[in-house]
Amino acid sequence: MPATSRGTTPKPPGARQRLTVLSGPSGVGKSTVVAHMRKQHPEVWLSVSATTRPPRPGERDGVQYFFVSDEEFDKLVANGELLEWAEFAGNRYGTPRAAVMERLAAGEPVLLEIDLQGARLVRTSMPDALLVFLAPPSWEELVRRLTGRGTERPEVIERRLDAARVELAAESEFDTTLVNTSVEDVSQELLALMNVV
Ligand code: ADP
Ligand code: 5GP
Repeated sequence: MPATSRGTTPKPPGARQRLTVLSGPSGVGKSTVVAHMRKQHPEVWLSVSATTRPPRPGERDGVQYFFVSDEEFDKLVANGELLEWAEFAGNRYGTPRAAVMERLAAGEPVLLEIDLQGARLVRTSMPDALLVFLAPPSWEELVRRLTGRGTERPEVIERRLDAARVELAAESEFDTTLVNTSVEDVSQELLALMNVV
């Protein structure tokens, strides 16, 4: 087992593509790992979520997220256009259903980067999905990363750390855990779990 991996992962040889969900506390490095992985393997298809959160500097509509108003988000929910959605630290986030279904039907490796509540909903609606938990090397390191990113105000960081305590307590609900010590190592492990390498 690789040094940063905990738990077992069933992966029958020749398994068909299945949906992979990556979750973990805010600041653990999910976006960093996914960006690194997709630079090497652009064939991994990452769902772009809709969110009511305002863009961070450098974030572009349709790239990191579809940035929508509260009213637009209400409509997506009412029209059943989201595979799952959740409220996280004061904003709503949801996965557009149609694109995910199309890519899965085409047999592509599909990745969702979503929070714990979303992962639980996917577990219920798509029991076949592989749920991967990204854990920090330590609580102190998580706080350092979240604070060091410098994108949130102190009160938002506090809300995210409150959510992080809940998320860390739910690790055992996931099929497997990767500890994000090295971005390179974790990316490789995730690619292997997804049958891409
Ligand atoms: P998330 O998407 O989980 O909220 P980010 O990808 O934005 O987290 O990462 C939060 C911060 O931690 C960023 O500043 C990022 O550069 C840093 N980071 C991510 N992975 C590592 C790592 N393995 N070692 C050190 N810093 C990391
Ligand atoms: P951030 O604001 O830092 O980009 O994301 C905050 C949290 O929302 C992260 O845990 C991220 O994984 C999660 N998230 C992003 N998109 C979605 C989504 O479509 N659904 C759910 N449930 N969570 C999401």
